Parts: sequence; C-alpha cells; structure tokens
Amino acid sequence: MQLFDRLGDTYEEVVFCHDAPTGLRAVVAIHSTALGPALGGTRFYPYASEDDAFEDVLRLAEGMTYKSAAAGLDLGGGKAVIIGNPATAKSEALLRVYGRFVDSLGGRYITAEDVGTTQADMDLIRRETRNVTGVSRGLGGSGDPSAATAYGLLWAMKAVLEALDGVDQLAARRVVVSGVGKVGTALVRHLVEERARVTVADINDASVARVVTDFGVDAVPVLDAHTVECDIFSPCALGGACNEKSIAGMRCRAVVGAANNQLATPEDAIRLADRGILYAPDFVVNAGGVINIAEELIGYHRERAYANVRRITNTTKQVLTKADTERTTPTAAAESLAEQRITDMGDAAARIRTFTRR
Ligand code: NAD
Repeated sequence: MQLFDRLGDTYEEVVFCHDAPTGLRAVVAIHSTALGPALGGTRFYPYASEDDAFEDVLRLAEGMTYKSAAAGLDLGGGKAVIIGNPATAKSEALLRVYGRFVDSLGGRYITAEDVGTTQADMDLIRRETRNVTGVSRGLGGSGDPSAATAYGLLWAMKAVLEALDGVDQLAARRVVVSGVGKVGTALVRHLVEERARVTVADINDASVARVVTDFGVDAVPVLDAHTVECDIFSPCALGGACNEKSIAGMRCRAVVGAANNQLATPEDAIRLADRGILYAPDFVVNAGGVINIAEELIGYHRERAYANVRRITNTTKQVLTKADTERTTPTAAAESLAEQRITDMGDAAARIRTFTRR
C-alpha cells in the first residue's frame, strides 16, 4: 500500500507502534481531532496481511469521526489495531507497552475496547495511561460499552419501524441478528423483552447454542442469515455484511446493526435503496457505546449516559427524514449531518484562540 496516497488529505496522523520483546505490532490512526480528542477502540485481530490491518484501521478511524460527530459528541475520530491472534499473542506486558504508546500521544488519541479486547485489557492499559475509557467501574470507568451499544440499537430499530409503519413497536416483528457476541447477545435480550421474534446466526456454534438456550430464539446457518424473510436484518459481526452478492439475496425491510462499516462499498447504499431496503447507517445506530464512554470523560453517571444513548432514536429519525426530503440515501444524509457539525463546531473552536501557557 502507498500509505501517504491512501491517507489523502483527510487523515491527521498514523502511528506505528513496535516492540520486539512483547511482539507488539500496532497501528494507531487519528482521522480527525476537529471536534475533540480522537476516540476509538483497539481491535486485536489476526489480520491476513499488514495491508488488511492498515486498511481496517483507516476505515474504522474515519468511521469514528462520523459516528461521534453525528452523535453530537465533542470527540474526534481515531482507532487502533494490534496485529495478532488475541488468544495466543495477548499478554500483560504487550498491553502495558501498548498503553505507553497510547500515552505518548498526549491525549490526541483515547482508546477503548473493540473486537479482540476486553474491559480487563483496558484496566491493564489504564496502569500506563489515563487516555483509555471503558475501564471497570472500580477504576471510575463505565465498563464494557457493548450493553450501551445494544441499547442504542434497540432505540434505532424503534425509529426505523416508525419510519416504515408509523408504529415503533418491536412486538411480533422478525429480527435476524447475525453475530451474537457481546453486542449481539445484549441486543437479543432487549428484543426478546420487547416480544420480537428473533433468529440468530454466528460462526461460533457454542455462542449460538448459548443464545438459543438462554432466550429460546431460532437459529440459522451464517450463510443463510441475510436471506431470512424478516423486518430487520441486524449485522452484529464484522464489516462488509452488505455487499453486492448479499444485498441481492436479502429479504428484509431494513438493516440496523452494530457492525462497523457494514457497507462493503459506497455503492451498496444505492443497491440497498434500489431493493427497497431501508439502511440505517451503522455509525448512527451503533453509537451507544461511544456515547456511554464519552460520559466517562466528564464523570460517569449511568442514568445520564443511557438517556443520551436513547437519543439515537431522534438522530435516526432526523437522518431518515433528511434522506426522504433530499431524496438521497440515509448514509448520504447522515454523512452530511456529521460533516456540517465538523465544519460548524470545528471552525468555531479554531476561530477563537486561547493563549494559556501550557
Ligand atoms: P464480539 O467479538 O463480541 O462479537 C462478534 C461475534 O460475531 C462473535 O460471536 C463472532 O463469533 C461472530 N462472527 C464473526 N464472524 C461472523 C460471521 N461472518 N457471521 C456471523 N457471526 C460472525 O464483538 P462485539 O463487541 O459484539 O461487536 C460486534 C460488532 O459491532 C463489531 O463489528 C464491532 O466493531 C461493532 N461495534 C461494537 C461496539 C461495542 O460496544 N462492543 C460498538 C460499536 C460497534
């Protein structure tokens, strides 16, 4: 990859962190600090190639800029990846060395957990830097953000159903959740509580069995999940669930899921619209975790945080209405809302300078 070409004129900073004794190979991408420190999780993943890792961290960092801006947070966008298999490569030493690298960025990047990292990992990183969120309650943190993400998805689904049918009830609706990890499982719990009819899929048979036993839901093979006739298809695994091939086989009315970068390419937003499928942009509907974490930076209060997470329902409605009015896709509408905030607030903050000696 020609890295500088790939960065174009949009990314601010990319940092490579290397430590041979612990085997740490990490990349931190800071996409934008226009609205505040670049906050985004650390993904620990056995990438097939370094190019795959770079591409992933860059796309995820950009997504965080849009996510925080659309959610109205005073945060920029960043992300980090650690290359390796978390099951075998993760160690206390590696995580603490990584924490020191995060610390060296002086607060421009604030980390959190993501796929392959846990709250316990964040607690270890906290021993080296304050610039980590999602640490355990005992350390003054808000803990694992997955529950808040699932709660936000629930409220986004209500907004989508209201846009489709004029009623925001999930009862008797069929929802297919593909990926029942931390977010997917918490989402299934909410859906069952709302009396939705739920079908799940996961590449991990044990996860499927656990959710089927715990919640009495149906299961289908992973490859069939997107073809199940349903009201809402909810991708809660990795990115790219909406691609040319999968969209052609979809029999849902809407897509509302946790996974980041659900659209494999920008054209997939049009493909979904052409098939009459309402796509609620991932970075709008999965912002519950970052909204919850943002509260940590000002002193965590769960009720206030969850009240803010519920506002995802309003943001989703605003995006869908704007898309309708402007005859564009919800993705384009949400991007334009986020860009407007970055321009308005980013410019306002830069216009007035302060001269405090640091
Ligand atoms: P997780 O690792 O706990 O769960 C992912 C699940 O997906 C696992 O059970 C895994 O077996 C399954 N899976 C992997 N590949 C699959 C496939 N091809 N088909 C079906 N299932 C598959 O991760 P998580 O924290 O639940 O996050 C899920 C997604 O949501 C990720 O894309 C993450 O980036 C995104 N997200 C998470 C949060 C959060 O708060 N955790 C916030 C925003 C976005």
